[in-house]
Amino acid sequence: MRASDTRSFSAGVKEELIRLPMGKPCCMLSEISALTQTSGHLAFRGGGWISASYRLDNAGTARRLFQLLKKRLDVAPKLHFVQTRQLGGRRSCVLTLGTEDTRTLLNALHMAETDEDGQVHLKRTVPRHPMTRQCCRRAFLRGAYLGAGTMTNPEKGYHFEWKADDRLADTLEKLLEKCELPYHSYLRKGQRIIYLKDAQQISDMLAVMGAGSSVLEMENIRINKQLRAAATRAANCDEHNSEKMLDAAQRQAEAIRYLSVQQGLFTLPPALRELARRRVENPDLSMKELGESLDPPISKNAVNHRMRRLMEIAEALREEQGREKEP
Ligand SMILES: [Zn+2]
Repeated sequence: MRASDTRSFSAGVKEELIRLPMGKPCCMLSEISALTQTSGHLAFRGGGWISASYRLDNAGTARRLFQLLKKRLDVAPKLHFVQTRQLGGRRSCVLTLGTEDTRTLLNALHMAETDEDGQVHLKRTVPRHPMTRQCCRRAFLRGAYLGAGTMTNPEKGYHFEWKADDRLADTLEKLLEKCELPYHSYLRKGQRIIYLKDAQQISDMLAVMGAGSSVLEMENIRINKQLRAAATRAANCDEHNSEKMLDAAQRQAEAIRYLSVQQGLFTLPPALRELARRRVENPDLSMKELGESLDPPISKNAVNHRMRRLMEIAEALREEQGREKEP
């Protein structure tokens, strides 16, 4: 469904994030903070000279950071390109700030302390501002993904990660705890890799960062995979169930797929969303078994009731779409 199949899923997510509005001043600062921690470097020289620079592989991310810095901090970054000799001569974008602008940046991010002699030192503590507000937590996670994140195409597997130094890793772990997303981590070449492995959690993370189209796309891939697997299972054991029951289950799965493609299952209330996912994964279960498979389990009647709601929502959506197509 993407325009180009050659572009990776991860790059598609970044393209979507880059186009999002920059948001409130507090969120802009959080995103700047994340990009500074993932892609920023500080250089010191004598006489109080100090310069922050950012090296970014993605021109879109560089453009976004350039605008964030200008708009939020009223500083004037300089942009130039460098060709790396390694990595097959890939071009990366470098943004540089002069001494005054770097001080403005560090003060805004509460990353610097100035001692009695007027010397600037860096603080090594976790920044507090992206922690307190939900909007800023989202912006920070977005910035960290733009600067240091990647994910596997859901067609191939479920893996979403950030590469981080200790300070950023601590921040990310605290943020993920606040978002109630269970993460894993390990060391790779002296860096900490924070990652998510569960399809649902990855989808939730995309939603948290504001990548709504990517959530939808991932959900479609998941549902198609599940339907393919379920069709194989059903074909292997169809003496197990009556044809009539499988027909009904098939109709339900189709309606759910339609809902997912048109508006995304994440738009449904949690109880319906859970049942929808469970049905698509298990078209060979009876309504009673479906209810028992939920956590907590629900009665057959409750399953029937919720399934009816789902079918009604899909039906209403179909009618609405039908009306829109009329001249
Ligand atoms: Zn905010």
